[in-house]
Amino acid sequence: MNSRKRKRKKFIVDAMLGDLAKWLRILGYDTLYSKSYTDKQIISIAKSSERIIVTMDRGLCIMARKKNISCVTIENYDIRDRLAEISVKTNIPLIADPSRSRCPVCNGTLKPIYDKSIVKDRVPPKALESNKVFYVCIRCGQVYWEGSHWKNIRRVLEEARNIAELIIERRNNQRIKKS
Ligand SMILES: [Zn+2]
Repeated sequence: MNSRKRKRKKFIVDAMLGDLAKWLRILGYDTLYSKSYTDKQIISIAKSSERIIVTMDRGLCIMARKKNISCVTIENYDIRDRLAEISVKTNIPLIADPSRSRCPVCNGTLKPIYDKSIVKDRVPPKALESNKVFYVCIRCGQVYWEGSHWKNIRRVLEEARNIAELIIERRNNQRIKKS
């Protein structure tokens, strides 16, 4: 189990891709994001904490790769396309499990809470009634539960998976043509 944990990819996302950073956290990946990172900071953080850089800036990727740091460029704007792109390029599955998610706001890990009395002041009564488990961010205290927005999350991920399949299919077809 430990080795699996060690192998789990970590990311640092540059300023233009805030939406993708949130989604990577929802998918359970340790993802740093700040609008104020400079290119230099991104490279040094990526190096010291073994993170993959995610950016729209090809120049940054060229710089990073010269220093042996993994970097992926994102070329699309729609979040489904962006998710498909990162999934294909870094080989991460687009499957969300709320018990493995990180806080989309601050990247903190989430702790499951089964005792409703702990969260009752921070959750609307309806949600409190209809959920058995809640997740509290150990860093910022934000409370989450598998509410209706999770339907939307799963739908977006399904659409992104379909796009990813098309990208792989297209790539395989091109390979066949070339050979
Ligand atoms: Zn948080």
